[in-house]
Amino acid sequence: MNLISLTIRQAHDGLIDKKFSSRELTLAYLAEIEKKDKKIGAYLSVTKDLALRQAEKIDEEISAIGGPASGGKIGLLAGIPCAIKDAILVEGEKCTAASKILENYVAPYDATAVKKLKNEGAVILGKTNTDEFTMGASTENSAFKVTKNPHDLTRVAGGSSGGSAAAVAADMACHALGSDTGGSIRQPASFCGVVGLCPTYGAVSRYGLIAHASSFDQIGPMAKTVEDCRIVFDAIKGKDLLDSTSVEQKISNFKFQISNLRVGVPKEYFSKGLDSGVEKIIKNAIKKAQDAGAKIVEISLPTTEFALACYYILVPSEASANLARYDGIKYGLSEKGENLLDVYLKTRGRGLGAEVKRRIMIGTYCLSSGYYDAYYKKAQQVRQFIRNDFVKAFEKADLIFCPVSPFPAFKIGEKADDPLSMYLADIYTVAVKLAGLPGLSLPAGKTNGLPVGLQIIGNHFEENKILAIAQELEKML
Ligand code: GLN
Repeated sequence: MNLISLTIRQAHDGLIDKKFSSRELTLAYLAEIEKKDKKIGAYLSVTKDLALRQAEKIDEEISAIGGPASGGKIGLLAGIPCAIKDAILVEGEKCTAASKILENYVAPYDATAVKKLKNEGAVILGKTNTDEFTMGASTENSAFKVTKNPHDLTRVAGGSSGGSAAAVAADMACHALGSDTGGSIRQPASFCGVVGLCPTYGAVSRYGLIAHASSFDQIGPMAKTVEDCRIVFDAIKGKDLLDSTSVEQKISNFKFQISNLRVGVPKEYFSKGLDSGVEKIIKNAIKKAQDAGAKIVEISLPTTEFALACYYILVPSEASANLARYDGIKYGLSEKGENLLDVYLKTRGRGLGAEVKRRIMIGTYCLSSGYYDAYYKKAQQVRQFIRNDFVKAFEKADLIFCPVSPFPAFKIGEKADDPLSMYLADIYTVAVKLAGLPGLSLPAGKTNGLPVGLQIIGNHFEENKILAIAQELEKML
């Protein structure tokens, strides 16, 4: 049996039926990482000791509950190896956010999502690569290395959760946690051909996620199948007293089906700039839904043209405030200086990369007195208009289908020196976050050998509907 290609449920069944142990499963993944990761570069650190300790503990629990007849007493995630984006804290392990400024920072506590996974008995294999402070769309902004796309090593894995996506795609983890501020779960999932869910803002606690832009950031699952994503999402969601923006979700028992679904297709998302191969695959997925009985309705999101500009004012503004804490005193790197200002300048000058500095400068400018009203306040007003577009769209449609990215994975280096063309990669993913909505990337086919994801967007806290429909569609694509 090829242990590393199993889904969560298959691996769970194998553990319960004692076909293999969690230690064997974990060792199989560790061997795969050893074999492949020099080429792919998905991991920034491998937490072998932690993983084996967790696996052995679960093996003891499984042997204590007896044979297959007692199956079901062990949670679905128990003993299953996963990866965690290196912007999410795992107690006692390094958490770098792929930045030199946090190169030697060791997390003093677990993020709530990690704690919840640990409580379910999950095995943590390591911490995955990301763009520095999750700012980017290719992992090329990582201070340490570029993650390669497992489908074509000359191309990017996407970003910022490129390490998590590549780890799952290359069978170096059964599932992984990523984070999404403007597309960082959905876009790498699309580029690497895995399923990625960005939950509604507030659905999963942000406690222990290194902050990028606090009114956007969300942790979410990345996995091989929709069902696996659901299993992980169910484990990590919910109200957390340590994150006042988190909420408990009301789960509807309604059975969502494609046959009675109204699928909204935003006309603005199918205009110039969309790669023809991607367009074909997305249109084919929409046709499949239609053939299965869905009603396709054209919708309009007229504020689409403002979404990127709005995002790239609000997000750097929040980031500039969040990153002020890396001052050479409280965390990580601390350069010596002649006075306090000199310590700040040297630490931040040496510790932060070009994209992070660019965003701190843009954000600080947008928030400065005299410009605040013209930029930050205006962008907040535009954010409301963008949100209203979606409110209107959801009167006509139950879910929205559209591309995740205008193009498939691009070549390493292709956009690295041109921030504006890199920002264009986010054109279909940022509006969702400006509106605080959930979105999922579902593998929908390949163009020239490269995976393409269909984006399924739902109304607030409608992950259940998205997952049900995605699971049905998954079998047809
Ligand atoms: N590419 C987007 C950005 O650079 C999204 C990043 C993210 O979601 N963390 O801001």
